[in-house]
Amino acid sequence: MLGAPGSGKGTQAKRLAEKFNFTHISTGDLFRQNISAGTPLGVEAKSYIDHGQLCPDSLTINMLHDFLSRKEGIVGCILDGVPRTTVQADMLEGRGHDKQLPISVVINLNVDSDEISRRMLKRAEIEKRSDDTPEVIQQRIANYLAQTKPLEEYYAQRGVLCHINGMGSMDDIFDDICRELVARFPELAL
Ligand code: ADP
Repeated sequence: MLGAPGSGKGTQAKRLAEKFNFTHISTGDLFRQNISAGTPLGVEAKSYIDHGQLCPDSLTINMLHDFLSRKEGIVGCILDGVPRTTVQADMLEGRGHDKQLPISVVINLNVDSDEISRRMLKRAEIEKRSDDTPEVIQQRIANYLAQTKPLEEYYAQRGVLCHINGMGSMDDIFDDICRELVARFPELAL
């Protein structure tokens, strides 16, 4: 799942995982779990996250593979929040990393920037995340544009990018994504 912070990719990823029996992996959630547990990885990640910066690429990809290696019987994964840089995408393809995680389709949720800011400020009131202050939100959006948005072109070149309008209702967006997935992988309709 590709999309700006606040684009709704977490919500959609969870629903997709449930419907198709995939494992939902959110690197944001994994970092927050490590922070709550006070692990060394959590301590390192917190210093980046609280400033709206991305965590280092190797730290993130190693955490992902570590999570996968401790899970059994995975039939497929919905990656939510990773890759967030082209270096991470290269690492998932085995360049700059000894393990691979092939990506078969990339769902890109398109939401305009005014709506993104509105949604994030609303979520900030509800969830009180330490990285949801107005300044940090602006930083995260800027980082998304500079570091993550180039992945659209990266995956378009590989022929796996699928654009979804993320401005409708959650149910309509979910239906659109399911339709696109089933069109690409008919076996999912069974
Ligand atoms: P958002 O709601 O902004 O999409 P997440 O909950 O997915 O945020 O992630 C929260 C923070 O965790 C990010 O702002 C970033 O600091 C860190 N993070 C999550 N995934 C990655 C990643 N793939 N690479 C680097 N940092 C990450």
